Amino acid sequence: MQEANCIFCKIVRGEIPSKRVYEDDLILAFHDIHPVAPVHVLVIPKAHVDTLANALPEHEAALGRMMAVANRLAAEQGSPEGFRLIVNTGRIGRQEVMHVHAHILGGGEPLGPMLPRPRT
Ligand code: AMP
Ligand code: ZN
Repeated sequence: MQEANCIFCKIVRGEIPSKRVYEDDLILAFHDIHPVAPVHVLVIPKAHVDTLANALPEHEAALGRMMAVANRLAAEQGSPEGFRLIVNTGRIGRQEVMHVHAHILGGGEPLGPMLPRPRT
């Protein structure tokens, strides 16, 4: 369910401080420590799963709820007209923290392009 040395499991357990914005039985949301947009919240399953590549049917409820609460959290945090949800996964996705998390990104103005276009 939880991993002793995982940084986000430690946040779930309250062993590392975080600025929490939402919590229920399955998920937790808190401010990213290094925001890249005016609104930058992370939403995670409370149960440890390292990456979407290893998600199991038992994780579906938490993963679904992460998406279901995203609009509400974005609006509450200052992005009422839309947002971007990003789940970096594995080496190609440049996932750095190995506990599944979705970035909720937004603000008062449209975000930059999703990725720079490759040169042709
Ligand atoms: P990713 O590259 O998708 O794995 O993103 C990991 C994110 O976790 C980064 O945006 C970090 O700024 C963020 N992060 C790392 N440690 C913490 C922490 N203790 N509290 C809040 N956010 C964190
Ligand atoms: Zn974890």
